[in-house]
Amino acid sequence: MSEKFSNAGSADIVLALCAAIHESKDYLSEVDGAIGDGDHGVNMNKGFTLASQRIDASSSFSDALEVLADTLVDDIGGSMGPIYGTFFMSLSENLSSSDEINAKEFGNSLADAAQALEDLAGARPGDKTLVDVAVPASEAFQAAEQRGDGFSSCLSAMAEASEAGWKSTEGMQARLGRAARLGERSIGHLDAGATSCNVILQTMAKEISAKLQG
Ligand SMILES: [Mg+2]
Repeated sequence: MSEKFSNAGSADIVLALCAAIHESKDYLSEVDGAIGDGDHGVNMNKGFTLASQRIDASSSFSDALEVLADTLVDDIGGSMGPIYGTFFMSLSENLSSSDEINAKEFGNSLADAAQALEDLAGARPGDKTLVDVAVPASEAFQAAEQRGDGFSSCLSAMAEASEAGWKSTEGMQARLGRAARLGERSIGHLDAGATSCNVILQTMAKEISAKLQG
């Protein structure tokens, strides 16, 4: 039978995302400091830590995602709160009616969420943003699913594409935001949003893989 995980009781996946951002906060600010204002780790940690305090650990994956999304939209300033908030809200809304989440459902929900994130960020692939992680990761998941791979293989494909997308931002020239003002001098540095997006997707892949049954 096809691999799946239970929506009910899977808030711990979202709590693991909060913990991973907390653990990465210094690195995220360091990356942002090279070509941005150096606050990415502080901002992200603020939102994800607040969310971790509000999430009921016994709640469902989709309910926990909703709490995270609301917290990021309401309590993080700047552009990142709404962008990540929209991403997690889209995932939550797509999955809230599912008891068991399989690869097809997750892949479709991830694609919708990546599209919502791309629309709100106003960025295209190649602009040196988190879109360079979220979009190829989502596409790799769906490509694996469509060729018949199991859920765990789809998650591995997603994680690999996320890592490759993150690293690819180093060679790109920023076309949006503060870093774009640096022009060619933005080349040679990783993008901070791409870095946090990779942390999120790597953690999600690992945590969901550990829960798969069937
Ligand atoms: Mg910043």
